[in-house]
Amino acid sequence: MTRYELIVVGGGISGVWSAYHAAISGKKVALIDSSQMGSGGTGRSAGIHTTQLALKIDVKLSIRSLELYEELASKNDYEGLHKKLGFISIEESWMARESSKMLSELNIPYSLLSKDELRKIIPNVITRDSEVGVYTPYDIIINISAMYEAMRKILKELNVDIYEYSSIKGIKKIDKYILSAKCNNNLEFISDEFIFAAGPWNKGLMKQLNLWTPPTIIYVCQVLLFTKPKDMKILPTYFQDSHIYFRPDGDWRFIVGNGYAKIIDNPDYCPTRIEPEYVREIAEKLFDRITNPSEINIIGGWTGPCSTTPDGYPILGKVPGLENAWIIDGLNGYGLMRAPAMAELLVNSIVKDAWQILPKEFDPTRFNGLKDYEPKVLELHS
Ligand SMILES: Cc1cc2nc3c(=O)[nH]c(=O)nc-3n(C[C@H](O)[C@H](O)[C@H](O)COP(=O)(O)OP(=O)(O)OC[C@H]3O[C@@H](n4cnc5c(N)ncnc54)[C@H](O)[C@@H]3O)c2cc1C
Repeated sequence: MTRYELIVVGGGISGVWSAYHAAISGKKVALIDSSQMGSGGTGRSAGIHTTQLALKIDVKLSIRSLELYEELASKNDYEGLHKKLGFISIEESWMARESSKMLSELNIPYSLLSKDELRKIIPNVITRDSEVGVYTPYDIIINISAMYEAMRKILKELNVDIYEYSSIKGIKKIDKYILSAKCNNNLEFISDEFIFAAGPWNKGLMKQLNLWTPPTIIYVCQVLLFTKPKDMKILPTYFQDSHIYFRPDGDWRFIVGNGYAKIIDNPDYCPTRIEPEYVREIAEKLFDRITNPSEINIIGGWTGPCSTTPDGYPILGKVPGLENAWIIDGLNGYGLMRAPAMAELLVNSIVKDAWQILPKEFDPTRFNGLKDYEPKVLELHS
Protein backbone atom coordinates (compact mmCIF):
# COMPACT_ATOMS: atom_id res chain seq x y z
CA MET A 1 0.00 0.00 0.00
CA THR A 2 1.36 3.41 -0.96
CA ARG A 3 1.02 6.29 1.47
CA TYR A 4 0.24 9.88 0.48
CA GLU A 5 -0.61 13.09 2.24
CA LEU A 6 -3.31 13.95 -0.25
CA ILE A 7 -5.14 12.01 -2.93
CA VAL A 8 -7.01 13.80 -5.69
CA VAL A 9 -9.75 11.76 -7.35
CA GLY A 10 -10.26 12.93 -10.95
CA GLY A 11 -7.91 14.48 -13.48
CA GLY A 12 -10.17 17.13 -15.04
CA ILE A 13 -9.45 20.83 -14.67
CA SER A 14 -10.43 20.80 -10.98
CA GLY A 15 -8.32 17.72 -10.22
CA VAL A 16 -5.11 18.77 -11.97
CA TRP A 17 -5.19 22.23 -10.40
CA SER A 18 -5.92 20.75 -6.96
CA ALA A 19 -2.94 18.41 -7.33
CA TYR A 20 -0.78 21.30 -8.53
CA HIS A 21 -1.61 23.63 -5.63
CA ALA A 22 -1.27 20.83 -3.07
CA ALA A 23 2.12 19.76 -4.43
CA ILE A 24 3.32 23.39 -4.50
CA SER A 25 2.34 23.62 -0.83
CA GLY A 26 4.70 20.72 -0.11
CA LYS A 27 2.29 17.80 0.14
CA LYS A 28 3.04 14.35 -1.26
CA VAL A 29 0.19 13.97 -3.74
CA ALA A 30 -1.33 11.24 -5.90
CA LEU A 31 -3.82 11.96 -8.67
CA ILE A 32 -6.11 9.11 -9.68
CA ASP A 33 -8.24 9.07 -12.82
CA SER A 34 -10.50 6.24 -13.92
CA SER A 35 -9.60 7.02 -17.51
CA GLN A 36 -7.07 9.40 -19.02
CA MET A 37 -6.63 12.86 -17.48
CA GLY A 38 -8.80 15.35 -19.37
CA SER A 39 -11.19 12.74 -20.75
CA GLY A 40 -14.22 14.23 -18.96
CA GLY A 41 -15.83 17.61 -19.60
CA THR A 42 -12.47 19.41 -19.59
CA GLY A 43 -11.13 17.74 -22.72
CA ARG A 44 -14.40 18.50 -24.54
CA SER A 45 -14.63 22.15 -23.60
CA ALA A 46 -14.53 25.07 -26.01
CA GLY A 47 -11.53 26.63 -24.25
CA ILE A 48 -13.18 30.00 -23.61
CA HIS A 49 -12.04 32.03 -20.62
CA THR A 50 -13.76 35.35 -20.08
CA THR A 51 -14.22 37.82 -17.24
CA GLN A 52 -17.67 38.75 -18.57
CA LEU A 53 -19.73 36.65 -16.18
CA ALA A 54 -22.89 37.42 -14.27
CA LEU A 55 -21.80 36.72 -10.68
CA LYS A 56 -19.21 38.91 -8.99
CA ILE A 57 -17.67 35.89 -7.30
CA ASP A 58 -17.26 34.20 -10.69
CA VAL A 59 -15.58 37.27 -12.14
CA LYS A 60 -13.10 37.26 -9.24
CA LEU A 61 -12.42 33.54 -9.72
CA SER A 62 -11.98 34.09 -13.43
CA ILE A 63 -9.45 36.90 -12.86
CA ARG A 64 -7.40 34.72 -10.51
CA SER A 65 -7.62 31.67 -12.79
CA LEU A 66 -6.37 33.79 -15.66
CA GLU A 67 -3.32 34.79 -13.61
CA LEU A 68 -2.71 31.14 -12.78
CA TYR A 69 -2.83 30.07 -16.46
CA GLU A 70 -0.40 32.86 -17.27
CA GLU A 71 1.93 31.74 -14.47
CA LEU A 72 1.81 28.15 -15.67
CA ALA A 73 2.51 29.18 -19.25
CA SER A 74 5.42 31.44 -18.35
CA LYS A 75 7.00 28.97 -15.90
CA ASN A 76 7.06 26.34 -18.59
CA ASP A 77 7.68 28.52 -21.60
CA TYR A 78 4.40 27.25 -23.01
CA GLU A 79 3.36 30.08 -25.25
CA GLY A 80 0.74 27.92 -26.92
CA LEU A 81 -1.13 27.27 -23.66
CA HIS A 82 -3.35 30.31 -24.06
CA LYS A 83 -3.99 33.10 -26.53
CA LYS A 84 -5.02 36.58 -25.51
CA LEU A 85 -7.72 37.24 -28.13
CA GLY A 86 -10.16 39.16 -25.92
CA PHE A 87 -13.90 38.52 -25.74
CA ILE A 88 -16.83 40.47 -27.17
CA SER A 89 -20.34 40.22 -25.81
CA ILE A 90 -22.87 41.66 -28.23
CA GLU A 91 -25.79 43.07 -26.26
CA GLU A 92 -28.54 45.65 -26.34
CA SER A 93 -26.91 48.95 -25.36
CA TRP A 94 -28.96 49.33 -22.14
CA MET A 95 -27.83 45.87 -21.08
CA ALA A 96 -24.19 46.63 -21.88
CA ARG A 97 -24.33 49.69 -19.61
CA GLU A 98 -25.47 47.41 -16.77
CA SER A 99 -23.02 44.56 -17.40
CA SER A 100 -20.06 46.94 -17.74
CA LYS A 101 -20.73 48.32 -14.23
CA MET A 102 -19.24 45.20 -12.67
CA LEU A 103 -16.22 45.32 -14.99
CA SER A 104 -15.57 48.92 -13.86
CA GLU A 105 -16.06 48.00 -10.22
CA LEU A 106 -13.52 45.19 -10.45
CA ASN A 107 -11.05 47.26 -12.52
CA ILE A 108 -11.26 45.00 -15.52
CA PRO A 109 -10.18 46.85 -18.67
CA TYR A 110 -13.02 46.95 -21.23
CA SER A 111 -14.48 49.14 -23.91
CA LEU A 112 -17.93 49.54 -25.41
CA LEU A 113 -17.74 49.17 -29.18
CA SER A 114 -20.28 50.74 -31.51
CA LYS A 115 -21.67 48.94 -34.53
CA ASP A 116 -19.12 50.73 -36.76
CA GLU A 117 -16.21 49.88 -34.48
CA LEU A 118 -17.32 46.25 -34.36
CA ARG A 119 -17.51 46.19 -38.15
CA LYS A 120 -13.82 47.13 -38.25
CA ILE A 121 -12.54 44.38 -35.96
CA ILE A 122 -15.05 41.61 -36.76
CA PRO A 123 -16.22 42.53 -40.28
CA ASN A 124 -18.02 39.22 -40.84
CA VAL A 125 -20.31 39.61 -37.86
CA ILE A 126 -23.76 41.22 -38.22
CA THR A 127 -24.65 43.62 -35.41
CA ARG A 128 -28.05 45.28 -34.96
CA ASP A 129 -28.49 49.06 -34.62
CA SER A 130 -29.60 48.77 -31.00
CA GLU A 131 -26.59 46.63 -30.00
CA VAL A 132 -23.05 47.36 -28.85
CA GLY A 133 -20.09 45.10 -28.09
CA VAL A 134 -18.64 44.84 -24.58
CA TYR A 135 -14.99 44.09 -25.33
CA THR A 136 -12.60 42.73 -22.68
CA PRO A 137 -9.22 42.68 -24.47
CA TYR A 138 -7.32 40.55 -21.93
CA ASP A 139 -9.59 37.51 -22.04
CA ILE A 140 -8.04 34.32 -23.38
CA ILE A 141 -8.71 31.05 -25.10
CA ILE A 142 -7.05 27.99 -23.62
CA ASN A 143 -5.43 25.19 -25.55
CA ILE A 144 -6.46 22.24 -23.38
CA SER A 145 -3.95 19.78 -24.89
CA ALA A 146 -1.14 22.26 -24.23
CA MET A 147 -2.37 22.78 -20.67
CA TYR A 148 -2.27 19.03 -20.03
CA GLU A 149 1.18 18.79 -21.60
CA ALA A 150 2.41 21.53 -19.25
CA MET A 151 0.60 20.03 -16.25
CA ARG A 152 1.99 16.53 -16.82
CA LYS A 153 5.50 17.96 -16.89
CA ILE A 154 5.14 20.19 -13.85
CA LEU A 155 3.25 17.62 -11.74
CA LYS A 156 6.06 15.16 -12.45
CA GLU A 157 8.62 17.75 -11.36
CA LEU A 158 6.61 18.28 -8.18
CA ASN A 159 6.70 14.51 -7.52
CA VAL A 160 2.98 13.98 -7.97
CA ASP A 161 2.22 10.35 -8.79
CA ILE A 162 -0.40 10.06 -11.53
CA TYR A 163 -2.44 6.87 -11.76
CA GLU A 164 -4.56 6.75 -14.90
CA TYR A 165 -7.07 4.00 -15.75
CA SER A 166 -7.48 3.47 -12.00
CA SER A 167 -10.97 3.78 -10.63
CA ILE A 168 -11.73 3.87 -6.91
CA LYS A 169 -13.98 0.98 -6.05
CA GLY A 170 -13.93 0.95 -2.27
CA ILE A 171 -12.71 2.81 0.77
CA LYS A 172 -11.84 1.98 4.35
CA LYS A 173 -13.30 4.41 6.81
CA ILE A 174 -13.23 4.81 10.57
CA ASP A 175 -15.77 7.13 12.07
CA LYS A 176 -15.43 10.42 10.16
CA TYR A 177 -12.14 9.62 8.46
CA ILE A 178 -11.32 7.87 5.19
CA LEU A 179 -8.22 5.76 5.79
CA SER A 180 -7.55 4.26 2.39
CA ALA A 181 -8.95 3.77 -1.08
CA LYS A 182 -8.82 0.69 -3.27
CA CYS A 183 -8.95 0.77 -7.07
CA ASN A 184 -10.33 -1.67 -9.64
CA ASN A 185 -6.75 -2.68 -10.55
CA ASN A 186 -6.06 -3.67 -6.94
CA LEU A 187 -3.89 -0.64 -6.22
CA GLU A 188 -4.53 0.56 -2.70
CA PHE A 189 -3.62 3.96 -1.27
CA ILE A 190 -3.47 5.31 2.26
CA SER A 191 -3.81 9.05 2.58
CA ASP A 192 -4.31 11.78 5.18
CA GLU A 193 -6.68 13.79 2.98
CA PHE A 194 -8.85 13.15 -0.08
CA ILE A 195 -10.21 15.62 -2.63
CA PHE A 196 -13.11 14.42 -4.76
CA ALA A 197 -12.70 16.20 -8.08
CA ALA A 198 -14.41 13.76 -10.42
CA GLY A 199 -16.81 16.39 -11.80
CA PRO A 200 -20.06 14.83 -13.04
CA TRP A 201 -18.87 11.45 -11.75
CA ASN A 202 -18.57 12.60 -8.11
CA LYS A 203 -22.26 12.00 -7.49
CA GLY A 204 -22.35 8.33 -8.54
CA LEU A 205 -18.95 7.57 -7.05
CA MET A 206 -19.61 9.12 -3.65
CA LYS A 207 -23.04 7.51 -3.49
CA GLN A 208 -21.54 4.11 -4.33
CA LEU A 209 -18.88 4.60 -1.62
CA ASN A 210 -21.61 5.49 0.89
CA LEU A 211 -20.09 8.90 1.61
CA TRP A 212 -22.40 11.76 0.68
CA THR A 213 -24.44 12.33 -2.46
CA PRO A 214 -23.85 15.81 -3.89
CA PRO A 215 -27.15 17.20 -5.23
CA THR A 216 -25.63 17.86 -8.62
CA ILE A 217 -27.47 17.91 -11.91
CA ILE A 218 -25.62 16.14 -14.70
CA TYR A 219 -26.06 17.33 -18.26
CA VAL A 220 -24.67 17.03 -21.75
CA CYS A 221 -23.18 20.02 -23.52
CA GLN A 222 -22.34 20.16 -27.24
CA VAL A 223 -20.31 22.31 -29.61
CA LEU A 224 -19.95 22.39 -33.39
CA LEU A 225 -16.90 22.90 -35.58
CA PHE A 226 -17.13 24.90 -38.81
CA THR A 227 -14.65 25.66 -41.58
CA LYS A 228 -13.52 29.27 -41.71
CA PRO A 229 -12.22 31.02 -44.79
CA LYS A 230 -8.75 32.33 -43.91
CA ASP A 231 -9.77 35.96 -44.49
CA MET A 232 -12.86 35.68 -42.23
CA LYS A 233 -11.91 37.68 -39.14
CA ILE A 234 -13.57 36.58 -35.93
CA LEU A 235 -12.78 36.91 -32.24
CA PRO A 236 -14.34 35.03 -29.31
CA THR A 237 -17.86 36.47 -29.38
CA TYR A 238 -21.09 35.91 -27.47
CA PHE A 239 -24.56 37.00 -28.61
CA GLN A 240 -26.76 37.86 -25.68
CA ASP A 241 -30.03 37.41 -27.62
CA SER A 242 -29.48 33.90 -29.00
CA HIS A 243 -26.90 32.77 -26.39
CA ILE A 244 -24.57 31.42 -29.06
CA TYR A 245 -20.85 31.96 -28.83
CA PHE A 246 -17.99 31.27 -31.16
CA ARG A 247 -14.23 31.45 -31.20
CA PRO A 248 -11.55 30.80 -33.82
CA ASP A 249 -9.78 27.45 -33.72
CA GLY A 250 -6.61 28.12 -35.70
CA ASP A 251 -6.73 29.83 -39.09
CA TRP A 252 -9.20 27.56 -40.82
CA ARG A 253 -11.85 26.55 -38.31
CA PHE A 254 -14.09 27.94 -35.62
CA ILE A 255 -16.02 26.46 -32.72
CA VAL A 256 -19.66 27.40 -32.06
CA GLY A 257 -21.81 26.56 -29.05
CA ASN A 258 -24.62 27.84 -26.88
CA GLY A 259 -24.21 26.18 -23.48
CA TYR A 260 -26.85 23.64 -24.62
CA ALA A 261 -27.90 21.46 -21.72
CA LYS A 262 -29.67 18.11 -21.86
CA ILE A 263 -30.06 16.47 -18.48
CA ILE A 264 -28.85 12.88 -18.04
CA ASP A 265 -28.60 10.55 -15.03
CA ASN A 266 -25.14 9.20 -15.53
CA PRO A 267 -22.14 10.83 -17.27
CA ASP A 268 -21.13 7.41 -18.62
CA TYR A 269 -24.25 7.65 -20.81
CA CYS A 270 -23.31 10.99 -22.33
CA PRO A 271 -24.24 10.57 -26.04
CA THR A 272 -21.17 10.54 -28.23
CA ARG A 273 -22.76 12.20 -31.25
CA ILE A 274 -24.11 15.69 -31.65
CA GLU A 275 -27.86 15.85 -32.20
CA PRO A 276 -29.27 16.85 -35.63
CA GLU A 277 -31.74 19.27 -33.93
CA TYR A 278 -28.80 20.96 -32.25
CA VAL A 279 -26.97 21.36 -35.56
CA ARG A 280 -30.08 22.94 -37.09
CA GLU A 281 -30.64 25.32 -34.18
CA ILE A 282 -27.02 26.48 -33.98
CA ALA A 283 -26.70 26.82 -37.76
CA GLU A 284 -29.85 28.98 -37.96
CA LYS A 285 -28.67 31.28 -35.17
CA LEU A 286 -25.15 31.47 -36.54
CA PHE A 287 -26.21 32.21 -40.13
CA ASP A 288 -28.32 35.04 -38.80
CA ARG A 289 -25.16 36.67 -37.46
CA ILE A 290 -22.50 36.24 -40.11
CA THR A 291 -22.22 37.97 -43.47
CA ASN A 292 -20.92 34.96 -45.42
CA PRO A 293 -22.84 31.80 -44.41
CA SER A 294 -22.41 30.22 -47.85
CA GLU A 295 -18.61 30.19 -47.34
CA ILE A 296 -18.60 28.07 -44.20
CA ASN A 297 -19.30 24.37 -43.71
CA ILE A 298 -19.92 22.26 -40.67
CA ILE A 299 -17.17 19.68 -40.21
CA GLY A 300 -18.22 18.08 -36.95
CA GLY A 301 -18.74 18.64 -33.30
CA TRP A 302 -18.62 16.86 -29.99
CA THR A 303 -20.39 16.41 -26.70
CA GLY A 304 -19.27 16.23 -23.09
CA PRO A 305 -20.74 15.85 -19.59
CA CYS A 306 -21.00 18.72 -17.08
CA SER A 307 -22.37 19.10 -13.58
CA THR A 308 -24.20 21.96 -11.91
CA THR A 309 -26.17 22.51 -8.70
CA PRO A 310 -29.76 23.56 -7.90
CA ASP A 311 -28.62 27.16 -7.16
CA GLY A 312 -25.98 27.33 -9.91
CA TYR A 313 -23.14 27.96 -7.45
CA PRO A 314 -20.38 25.35 -7.33
CA ILE A 315 -19.69 23.04 -4.40
CA LEU A 316 -16.40 23.60 -2.55
CA GLY A 317 -15.54 22.41 0.93
CA LYS A 318 -15.50 19.54 3.35
CA VAL A 319 -17.68 16.55 2.44
CA PRO A 320 -20.55 16.61 4.96
CA GLY A 321 -20.06 13.92 7.60
CA LEU A 322 -16.32 13.54 6.96
CA GLU A 323 -13.26 15.23 8.46
CA ASN A 324 -10.59 14.48 5.87
CA ALA A 325 -12.46 14.54 2.55
CA TRP A 326 -13.16 17.53 0.33
CA ILE A 327 -15.20 18.13 -2.77
CA ILE A 328 -14.94 20.48 -5.74
CA ASP A 329 -17.89 20.11 -8.12
CA GLY A 330 -20.76 21.84 -9.93
CA LEU A 331 -18.49 23.92 -12.15
CA ASN A 332 -21.22 24.10 -14.79
CA GLY A 333 -20.15 25.55 -18.16
CA TYR A 334 -17.52 27.72 -16.43
CA GLY A 335 -15.02 25.16 -15.20
CA LEU A 336 -12.00 26.56 -17.02
CA MET A 337 -12.68 29.96 -15.47
CA ARG A 338 -13.60 28.75 -12.00
CA ALA A 339 -11.43 25.70 -11.28
CA PRO A 340 -7.79 26.88 -11.01
CA ALA A 341 -8.77 29.59 -8.50
CA MET A 342 -11.25 27.36 -6.63
CA ALA A 343 -8.63 24.62 -6.31
CA GLU A 344 -6.20 27.18 -4.89
CA LEU A 345 -8.75 28.31 -2.30
CA LEU A 346 -9.51 24.71 -1.36
CA VAL A 347 -5.87 23.70 -0.92
CA ASN A 348 -5.10 26.87 1.07
CA SER A 349 -8.02 26.14 3.36
CA ILE A 350 -6.78 22.57 3.92
CA VAL A 351 -3.14 23.53 4.42
CA LYS A 352 -3.88 26.47 6.70
CA ASP A 353 -6.79 24.77 8.43
CA ALA A 354 -8.80 27.88 7.55
CA TRP A 355 -12.31 27.00 6.37
CA GLN A 356 -13.41 30.64 6.56
CA ILE A 357 -11.50 31.49 3.37
CA LEU A 358 -13.89 29.36 1.31
CA PRO A 359 -16.87 31.25 -0.13
CA LYS A 360 -19.96 30.59 2.00
CA GLU A 361 -22.09 30.42 -1.15
CA PHE A 362 -20.17 27.27 -2.17
CA ASP A 363 -20.51 25.43 1.17
CA PRO A 364 -21.65 21.82 0.54
CA THR A 365 -23.79 21.87 3.70
CA ARG A 366 -26.09 24.51 2.21
CA PHE A 367 -27.97 21.60 0.65
CA ASN A 368 -28.57 19.82 3.98
CA GLY A 369 -32.18 18.75 4.18
CA LEU A 370 -32.81 19.35 0.48
CA LYS A 371 -34.92 16.48 -0.79
CA ASP A 372 -36.47 17.47 -4.09
CA TYR A 373 -35.05 19.93 -6.51
CA GLU A 374 -35.84 20.78 -10.06
CA PRO A 375 -33.21 19.34 -12.38
CA LYS A 376 -32.51 22.51 -14.34
CA VAL A 377 -29.38 24.27 -15.50
CA LEU A 378 -29.06 27.94 -14.58
CA GLU A 379 -27.13 30.00 -17.09
CA LEU A 380 -24.91 32.52 -15.36
CA HIS A 381 -23.43 34.36 -18.29
CA SER A 382 -23.37 38.14 -18.40
C1 LIG B 1 -18.93 20.94 -24.96
C2 LIG B 1 -18.44 21.68 -23.74
C3 LIG B 1 -17.95 22.98 -23.87
C4 LIG B 1 -17.48 23.66 -22.74
N1 LIG B 1 -16.89 24.89 -22.91
C5 LIG B 1 -16.37 25.53 -21.83
C6 LIG B 1 -15.67 26.74 -22.01
O1 LIG B 1 -15.47 27.21 -23.13
N2 LIG B 1 -15.20 27.38 -20.90
C7 LIG B 1 -15.37 26.85 -19.63
O2 LIG B 1 -14.94 27.47 -18.66
N3 LIG B 1 -16.01 25.67 -19.45
C8 LIG B 1 -16.51 25.00 -20.52
N4 LIG B 1 -17.14 23.80 -20.34
C9 LIG B 1 -17.34 23.30 -18.97
C10 LIG B 1 -16.07 22.66 -18.43
O3 LIG B 1 -15.58 21.76 -19.39
C11 LIG B 1 -16.38 21.96 -17.10
O4 LIG B 1 -16.91 22.88 -16.19
C12 LIG B 1 -15.12 21.36 -16.50
O5 LIG B 1 -14.44 20.59 -17.45
C13 LIG B 1 -15.43 20.50 -15.28
O6 LIG B 1 -14.21 20.01 -14.83
P1 LIG B 1 -14.10 18.89 -13.72
O7 LIG B 1 -12.66 18.73 -13.42
O8 LIG B 1 -15.00 19.22 -12.59
O9 LIG B 1 -14.70 17.56 -14.38
P2 LIG B 1 -14.19 16.70 -15.62
O10 LIG B 1 -13.39 17.48 -16.58
O11 LIG B 1 -15.39 16.00 -16.17
O12 LIG B 1 -13.20 15.64 -14.97
C14 LIG B 1 -13.63 14.58 -14.17
C15 LIG B 1 -12.54 13.52 -14.22
O13 LIG B 1 -12.83 12.52 -13.24
C16 LIG B 1 -12.51 11.26 -13.78
N5 LIG B 1 -13.24 10.23 -13.04
C17 LIG B 1 -14.52 9.83 -13.21
N6 LIG B 1 -14.82 8.83 -12.34
C18 LIG B 1 -13.71 8.60 -11.60
C19 LIG B 1 -13.38 7.68 -10.58
N7 LIG B 1 -14.27 6.79 -10.12
N8 LIG B 1 -12.12 7.69 -10.06
C20 LIG B 1 -11.20 8.58 -10.55
N9 LIG B 1 -11.47 9.47 -11.53
C21 LIG B 1 -12.71 9.48 -12.05
C22 LIG B 1 -12.90 11.38 -15.24
O14 LIG B 1 -12.22 10.41 -16.03
C23 LIG B 1 -12.48 12.81 -15.57
O15 LIG B 1 -11.15 12.87 -16.07
C24 LIG B 1 -17.57 23.07 -21.45
C25 LIG B 1 -18.06 21.76 -21.32
C26 LIG B 1 -18.46 21.06 -22.45
C27 LIG B 1 -18.93 19.64 -22.30
